[in-house]
Amino acid sequence: NFFLIATTAGADRAGCTWLNPRRWLNLQEYQSKKLMQEHGVAVQRFYVADTASDALDAAKRLNAKEIVLKAQILAGGRGKGVFDSGLKGGVHLTKDPAVVGDLASKMLGFNLITKQTPKDGVKVKTVMVAEALDISRETYFAILMDRACNGPVMVGSPQGGMDIEEVAASTPELIFKEAIDIFEGVRDDQALRMAANLGFKESLQKQAADQIKKLYDLFLKVDATQVEVNPLGETPQGQVVCFDAKINFDDNAEFRQKAVFAMDDMTESDPTEMEAAKWDLKYIGMDGNIACFVNGAGLAMATCDIIDLHGGKPANFLDLGGGVKERQVYEAFKLLTADPKVEAILVNIFGGIVNCAIIANGITKACRELELKVPLVVRLEGTNVHEAKSILRESGLPIMAADNLDDAARKAVAAIKK
Ligand code: ADP
Ligand code: MG
Repeated sequence: NFFLIATTAGADRAGCTWLNPRRWLNLQEYQSKKLMQEHGVAVQRFYVADTASDALDAAKRLNAKEIVLKAQILAGGRGKGVFDSGLKGGVHLTKDPAVVGDLASKMLGFNLITKQTPKDGVKVKTVMVAEALDISRETYFAILMDRACNGPVMVGSPQGGMDIEEVAASTPELIFKEAIDIFEGVRDDQALRMAANLGFKESLQKQAADQIKKLYDLFLKVDATQVEVNPLGETPQGQVVCFDAKINFDDNAEFRQKAVFAMDDMTESDPTEMEAAKWDLKYIGMDGNIACFVNGAGLAMATCDIIDLHGGKPANFLDLGGGVKERQVYEAFKLLTADPKVEAILVNIFGGIVNCAIIANGITKACRELELKVPLVVRLEGTNVHEAKSILRESGLPIMAADNLDDAARKAVAAIKK
């Protein structure tokens, strides 16, 4: 889903959507394909297994000429990924169902590392055993929400498959876009033009246009923010088939998409981010050693930048919203200090809606109860700052006060060097 990554990165700079603690729900390929099937989209027959013996059974039951075994993780790039079991490739094709058990045993319980996963990869708990088809051509097709278009946009390329990132970088003219009018939907001429741009010829063009319209129908019905099919392939027998599926959903639609959201197993979510979200805090992990406790996305980024400017590296940042309670501050400190990489904490709060005195009380409580071991630098400004400063001063705790952000960053970096 690199187009989505690209568009949300654009949104980052403009509006900080990435600081939202709620992530767009992401389903496994087999779950997405089930939704596709229900909406008349062409996918191959498949079973799902979480043990090697079930995978073997499924392969026999499929009774297909060729079988494809696919590791299920939320990241893409599986085809070219590697397992920490040594097995190469998260997608394997075979004509012999008997080898599926053995292959699955080298996938299940092991981490699959791809271009889109963290460097240690993601543990595979489920595999998909599907009917394989010969693919004569692989195209890329996606529908996603695009800020520039103020609505959904279709993106396609005749050069789909496992090297789509490469195609986008070196031959951007092979990426085609078509904005969709939200009131009108995908028009026939648009669907046909996209099918032609994807390189489908003659009767396949109509078939592809039909798939495109069905995919848009699905996109609308399930409140998706993205439906990505890579590859959308054609077979020598003249079928247009969705071989891979990635759907993201709008979290705001949870109330009317209960069945979809019930499929979320959370097992690939970051536990710290989930804990933070429970307290209405937004946590982003990084790889330095200075924890940042801030309010507001802009301030968070400025804080990280200034730490960097003074030769330090942020370990994470925690952004607390407007209606702050003491308890939240305490939970925030708990989360920040649970990270063994953290060697200093920098608090940078600009009290607008936020009352600095509440923050100060939260900090002193957290320091005492959590027996804080790392240096703490605090810069507070704004609403009730004088009261806040005297709370910190009179606490008798070894809190380093800072006059401004520059001063705070310098002190935090220096505290670590000591
Ligand atoms: P990823 O995008 O994570 O690498 P894909 O599902 O796209 O995983 O699979 C990678 C490649 O494996 C596809 O580009 C396609 O060439 C091949 N493949 C996937 N599913 C099938 C299938 N059912 N039949 C034949 N080949 C397939
Ligand atoms: Mg793919």
